[in-house]
Amino acid sequence: MLKYKKRIAVLVCTALIAVQFSEGLFQQISGFSSTANGQEVKQVKKAKNVIMMIPDGTSVESVTLARLYHDLKKDNVPGNDNLNMDSILTGLVKTYWQDGPITDSAPGATAYSTGFKSEDKHVGTLSTKDGNIPKATLLEAARESGKSTGMVVTCEATHATPADYASHAANRSQYNSIMKQMVYGDFDVVLGGGDRLLSSESLSADGKTQYRKDGIDLRKELKNMGYNYITNKNELISTKSSKLWGMFAPQAMSPDIDRERLTPEQPTLEEMTNKAIDTLSKDKDGFFLMVEGSQIDWAGHDNDSTQIVSEIEAYDKAVKSALDFAKKDGNTVVVSASDHSTGGGTLGMVGLGEDIGKSYSSVTFEDTVTKLTKAKASSGLIGDDLKGKDKNTIKIAVKKYFSFNDLTKEEIIEIQAGNLKSVINKRVGIAWTSNNHTAGDVGLYCYAPAGIEKLTGLVDNTDVPKYLEKVTGLNLAQNTNKLFKNAKTELKKSGAIVSIDASDVDNPIVNISKAGHTLKLNGFTDKGQFDGANIEFDGVTVLITTDGKTYNEKDIYIPNDVITKFKKYVKAGKVVKPSL
Ligand SMILES: [Zn+2]
Repeated sequence: MLKYKKRIAVLVCTALIAVQFSEGLFQQISGFSSTANGQEVKQVKKAKNVIMMIPDGTSVESVTLARLYHDLKKDNVPGNDNLNMDSILTGLVKTYWQDGPITDSAPGATAYSTGFKSEDKHVGTLSTKDGNIPKATLLEAARESGKSTGMVVTCEATHATPADYASHAANRSQYNSIMKQMVYGDFDVVLGGGDRLLSSESLSADGKTQYRKDGIDLRKELKNMGYNYITNKNELISTKSSKLWGMFAPQAMSPDIDRERLTPEQPTLEEMTNKAIDTLSKDKDGFFLMVEGSQIDWAGHDNDSTQIVSEIEAYDKAVKSALDFAKKDGNTVVVSASDHSTGGGTLGMVGLGEDIGKSYSSVTFEDTVTKLTKAKASSGLIGDDLKGKDKNTIKIAVKKYFSFNDLTKEEIIEIQAGNLKSVINKRVGIAWTSNNHTAGDVGLYCYAPAGIEKLTGLVDNTDVPKYLEKVTGLNLAQNTNKLFKNAKTELKKSGAIVSIDASDVDNPIVNISKAGHTLKLNGFTDKGQFDGANIEFDGVTVLITTDGKTYNEKDIYIPNDVITKFKKYVKAGKVVKPSL
């Protein structure tokens, strides 16, 4: 955003906060009004910065496993090392969605980003009797208030959690429109995977599939908009740019435990988090950063014990980066909460002699987690490689990557069938209840500096954004009102005609005409043309579509800025430059 625009936004925002205070809108919200010892904390100041961290798919049980893994890997002495996140544990989060107990990531993180429990597959969008309506996210609210904004993930940037913060769609799989909203959303830092979605020249991870077919090169667009576009760890470390797009893989980045072996040029989640904090914290208006431990969820889906503990440990290093900054800064709130749990992995007796009547009291650390600490790869990836291989190859690989040198005949047969994961799981006593999401409450972690209350106790997932609104002064409802006006309803009042040109399905154009003048809005961007002259808007035009290709005039949402400028230009008969 242009600097002058930013200053104005800050002034307006401050004025609105003052009004809210006098109207008493910031009353205590139950669930986080007191600290663990029951004492009310008087909110004496606002937090300038927020680091919202989401360990996707992390259950309470998998944190236990990761803690034991981390603890024993360090010195083989149980009980003397905790995870960094343990130091800020404050409660539990209920994760159920609108229609059931087990949520998908899309409504799960939409609850965190917008404060609404939504429908399955919806990102940043609420289903109502009037259709699917986009709701402003905390990332957008922070941007509109003049703060810097960023996202750090290890999945493809368009996956559900980041999409929930930076885009609006009725289905999480609408990657093209989600990516465009991210590119044109004026966010300062975006780091993760997903380069294949930016250009018609880019290929997917297999090196063969072309994903984008419309001839558009969004990497060029990013460069034109002043971003430093980077693709590897060295570029990440050396860049000094204040606007940063880093795409480190065509699709997802490597699992943390496999990164050094497969893709050493990729940065870690911790390295990306450090760079994001360094970059965003230069803004004296503050920042909002969302960091996702994206692949903890995938390890859960995969029932991969070596991957889940290493992914959580990698995420926990990023939590340390956030906490180190927040403690030094004194104006930063850090929240960590998963959107749901995945896989239902638990350390128990399955595989450790339960079937032959052995007691759990005979199970030692050596029998279980210590074995995990010796793993050098995710069991899913190596397992796929070993499918159908001969006995010797299997023995060598399993010794090399997992330190087991006494495989039984039955285990070798199981590995040949592609089930290395299951062999490892039984050897370490970890059983899984599902290949999908589970309904368990997830851990709530919160750090707040002196003078700012913490979020504590058993809270609903929608309480998390309410808490962040309260401690920062950001206002989601006001921003929804500012950024997502229904185009047809709003423009009909002034006699304008709205139509859609969807001849290029991924890049629809909204035409608004009145009195011989036409405003063309490029769908999912902040750009348009008034009678052919290029203009930019404060906010993105969003077309809501359920199937990704059929558009309807009643489902177009535009920022207030479009309406204001359109009226002004029609009246003047031309584009009017803003007076500075
Ligand atoms: Zn998820």
